[in-house]
Amino acid sequence: MSAGVWAVLVAAGRGERLGGKRPKAFANLAGRPLVAESLERLDASPWVEAVVVAAPADWEEPTILLAEELGAGSVRAVVTGGATRTDSVRAGLAEVPADTAAVLVHDAARPFLPDEVVERVVTALGEGWDGAVPALPLADTVKRAEGDVVGETVDRAGLHAVQTPQAFVAEALRRALAGEGEATDCAGLVEAAGGRVRLVEGDRRLLKVTTPGDLAFVETLLAAKR
Ligand code: C5P
Repeated sequence: MSAGVWAVLVAAGRGERLGGKRPKAFANLAGRPLVAESLERLDASPWVEAVVVAAPADWEEPTILLAEELGAGSVRAVVTGGATRTDSVRAGLAEVPADTAAVLVHDAARPFLPDEVVERVVTALGEGWDGAVPALPLADTVKRAEGDVVGETVDRAGLHAVQTPQAFVAEALRRALAGEGEATDCAGLVEAAGGRVRLVEGDRRLLKVTTPGDLAFVETLLAAKR
């Protein structure tokens, strides 16, 4: 079932809000670099044939060594990421063979990657969508504010928090990324190019590590699993 699905793991962010001297992908998570977690999970996934990692500049070599240490045999390339997330995806996508059917894009900053979510997004592509993204309906009340001053309460009906991994028909993703467009996720560019993107059920454990507190929370999730 993995035939034709390549994953691009974007790990090139600096992670300034996390602090520390290393880029976020190499922050210490339970004794290993953060990126080890998602890399291992993508490598083990029966839905993924091959992986390309977009690494921070000057961290390509440690990324290759890490993949070797993990025995992540599906890693086919480590590329230097770009100035923005979208540029890092572009750099990774350039390594994906032209005849690949589908591409999965995942944030290394979301270390806890349940394989059920990979299955959900990849399976949705088989139903004729250009892309599929994991999403959670917003449960909290949503307010727009400037600093700490509330401007308005936003109607949350229909609003979702969208996560990765995101799956795309390779051709649709290539077309969407061909221009200079920028977005906080790949689906935004596929939508802008006219692609049809489906929401599938996300997972709370897929939270994006941004602050040291997030890192500590993911450590407790990992400890509970082991
Ligand atoms: O910065 P943000 O939290 O949106 O990053 C999401 C993911 O994109 C992270 O895994 C980060 O490493 C990656 N990224 C990247 N290249 C950048 C910026 C972010 O690969 N220039």
